[in-house]
Amino acid sequence: ALRQIGFDYIFDTNFTADLTIMEEGSEFVERFTHRDQYSWPMFTSCCPGWVRFLKSQYPQYTANLSTAKSPQQMFGAVAKSYFAEKMGLDPHKVFVVSLMPCTAKKAECELPTMKDACGDPDVDVVLTTREMCRLFRSDCIRPASLKSEEFDSPLGTGTGAAVIFGSTGGVMDAALRGDKPWKEAIFHVPGIGSLRVAVVSGLGNTRALMDALAKGDVQYDFVEVMACPGGCAGGGGQPIHEGTEYASYRGDQLWNLDANAAIRFSHENPEIQTLYQEYLGAPLGEKSHHLLHTDHNAWQAHPK
Ligand code: SF4
Repeated sequence: ALRQIGFDYIFDTNFTADLTIMEEGSEFVERFTHRDQYSWPMFTSCCPGWVRFLKSQYPQYTANLSTAKSPQQMFGAVAKSYFAEKMGLDPHKVFVVSLMPCTAKKAECELPTMKDACGDPDVDVVLTTREMCRLFRSDCIRPASLKSEEFDSPLGTGTGAAVIFGSTGGVMDAALRGDKPWKEAIFHVPGIGSLRVAVVSGLGNTRALMDALAKGDVQYDFVEVMACPGGCAGGGGQPIHEGTEYASYRGDQLWNLDANAAIRFSHENPEIQTLYQEYLGAPLGEKSHHLLHTDHNAWQAHPK
């Protein structure tokens, strides 16, 4: 459907969800093995609704955010550097349109800190999935009647681990439990010790967790936060079905896709391996630092 509309290349953001997992996972190991140099817990940073919430409501925790960019922003940065170089394209002539379940991502791509590949915004425009459906309808395109096609390469391959980015809980979910407004678990990692993790979605639940952390009622090493109830599956930019909430149904589809994926771990994604071999070097390396990480202190969030 997107090819009919006129897009030249169509990629899968799951590719850069894998890249986010590589960078953020490496960052966590780096922080955890130098514990006294960092503030705890480490928070995920892939949800721009959450990042803005933290920066405006709990700014004292800004340093706790992972510096890894969201998959959307990693995608734009890689498209206008690695991909443009590989294809011999002038990155200033590459226009990146991101299709997202999320209205907060429209503001994220406009942040002054998201221009790392060539000086232009790494992502030019964000359309929500709701807007995308309207676009299809206005062009009389019915995706269900079209034959399935592959994504373009080399930014078109994602693993099962990447697919479940869109649902709250990520890979930890099966082990999580709890009677609090969030879920929590302790993992015993040989040679490292015990990791205390928590997962929360919805900003009401998130506020309860943050207040408990601030009061010292709970302690964690790693906390995943998604602003929308149920995660991106319940994102504010998703199609609206009057009277029915599809977040958990969509989340279940993502878990099924993960369970049936040929490759389920990000570090086994062959295109991710090639990207590191050909271009980035290693997670947290100099190029990764420039293109894939960001300074959350370099812009102001203004509370309402
Ligand atoms: Fe956007 Fe909501 Fe997903 Fe956060 S949880 S990235 S605000 S859709």
